[in-house]
Amino acid sequence: MECCNSKNSHKGFAAQCNTCGKTGKPVKRETLEHLLKEDRVSLVRDTKYYFCQTPHCDVVYFSRNSDTFYKADLKVRVGLKETEEPIAVCYCFGYTTKMIKEDFLKNGHSTIQKEITNNVKQGICRCEVTNPQGTCCLGNVVQVVKSIITPL
Ligand SMILES: [Zn+2]
Repeated sequence: MECCNSKNSHKGFAAQCNTCGKTGKPVKRETLEHLLKEDRVSLVRDTKYYFCQTPHCDVVYFSRNSDTFYKADLKVRVGLKETEEPIAVCYCFGYTTKMIKEDFLKNGHSTIQKEITNNVKQGICRCEVTNPQGTCCLGNVVQVVKSIITPL
């Protein structure tokens, strides 16, 4: 499953966000082209882009040449950087933090996590272009479930 193969090239290509200074996660250009607002897409250059994972940082994508795209440049809300619902977790199937929590509390386990796992197995997820992080959302879903079991 290419979209859920998170082992791709994380090491050796580290780059830091020029705003918060944290190391970004490499993302494909395809992800940017799909999620940036129409008038921003033309600004995407032939270079490597990284995703800033810092929740309070306004930067979403950056490159080493300091090309920077902010939250406002995207067509979608970046769940990781939002504190108010709806906080998108799974972009392919439209699940939010709230839905995942409610489902878990109602059923005693996460039927959503199970459903996504099944969908991923069948290859119907498109996380690479729907999730701003450019990677599979399942890890984020698991984190939400974990945070219910052991509140931070
Ligand atoms: Zn940042």
